[in-house]
Amino acid sequence: MFICNECGRVTEDDGAEFCHFCGSDKGTTATPTMMPEGYEAVPIKTGGVVYADRSKLRRIPIALLLAFIPGLFDIFGLGHFVIGRWVKGAGFLALSGGYYYLRYMSGWDMLAPYLFIISLAIFVVQMVDLYNGFKKMLNDSVL
Ligand SMILES: [Zn+2]
Repeated sequence: MFICNECGRVTEDDGAEFCHFCGSDKGTTATPTMMPEGYEAVPIKTGGVVYADRSKLRRIPIALLLAFIPGLFDIFGLGHFVIGRWVKGAGFLALSGGYYYLRYMSGWDMLAPYLFIISLAIFVVQMVDLYNGFKKMLNDSVL
């Protein structure tokens, strides 16, 4: 196992003498027992694993659930709060308020198709932004 001094990531390969992520040879070889309590190995796209804070990993399914289910009822931004994206969460919540205002003030029937498209668009943007939030949160919590 090789812990990189440049990017902080961990290459699992026992014989590795350089970082599989950034290619740097500045680092230390270590045994997996050095992984601190509360961290979990997470496989990543480029191969190998990173060690991420378990308490932050646990927030991901909760955030997804709170983004998805209230999102079906046009209440957005709750998932963002779970991962600490307060400003964006408040923004999406404000959009939800605006959406409900529009929906009830304008009469549902006439605007229904447009409202559906608006709602769908906010939902998609919310999910994409949440995904980026996960990535940022995990990058910040990687060893
Ligand atoms: Zn590296």
